[in-house]
Amino acid sequence: MLFIGCHLSASGGFTAMADTALSLGANTFQFFTRNPRGGAAKDIDPADAAAFRALQQSGTIGTIVAHASYTINPCAANEATLDFARRMMADDLQRMEYVPGNLYNFHPGSHVGQGIEKGVEIITQTLNGLLFPEQTTTVLLETMSGKGSEVGGRFEELRAILDGVQLREKMGVCLDSCHIFDGGYDIVGDLDGVLAEFDRVIGLESRRAIHLNDSKNPLGSHKDRHEKIGQGNIGEKALCAIVNHPALRGRPVILETPNELPGYAEEIRLLRGSYTEND
Ligand code: FE
Ligand code: FE
Ligand code: ZN
Repeated sequence: MLFIGCHLSASGGFTAMADTALSLGANTFQFFTRNPRGGAAKDIDPADAAAFRALQQSGTIGTIVAHASYTINPCAANEATLDFARRMMADDLQRMEYVPGNLYNFHPGSHVGQGIEKGVEIITQTLNGLLFPEQTTTVLLETMSGKGSEVGGRFEELRAILDGVQLREKMGVCLDSCHIFDGGYDIVGDLDGVLAEFDRVIGLESRRAIHLNDSKNPLGSHKDRHEKIGQGNIGEKALCAIVNHPALRGRPVILETPNELPGYAEEIRLLRGSYTEND
């Protein structure tokens, strides 16, 4: 079964997002846990969360992905900035327990001149202060494009973070097609090779979600500018191959392409059309 959806506005709550997703032909979705600029989170309505849990239990909606604000920096050098990121993430994880068993994805952050090694160390400390044994949420490190001082542009950097996390079983990785392509992994010419590399460095069992985006820029550009499916440098054929790859099946595929809802519906239709159940 293909679980595919797109990034949605969180304004209406869980059941409203589920309704929107279903109207687009989706059976999963992603949302920001709070204003992407890092502000306050909306209060969770327990009745809405309960209704959503029932939808997931019935199988109507698969595993969903919450995305942390992309402006928080979990490896900041500045003490106050780092503390803010940690408090936001801790609050997000508490709130996620209203809808148990889903995914919480975040950007590892920017080392802002401290160097990759120091960045990895701070992110690891952030996670060790964040994760708790009772949590049902799996926390995902997103693969990044290596723009600026971003950590996570190489699989080895994510592996180094994971190696330092005490509650490793609470962790996974989200593979973003635009980011890894911009990071220099040739998913157009050699998808099998890239996935073999991911398996060797991190382990394929850690790939818990896919962000499916085309890229405005060429391989290795370290830019991170998403494009609509088929209109960028990755192209429709390679993106369909990702959706169909045996090593990636069964995980939620989330579109973060520059679209309004009708554009997302069209891309979901296209990708569902390309999907073959078994090969
Ligand atoms: Fe992201
Ligand atoms: Fe992404
Ligand atoms: Zn991106």
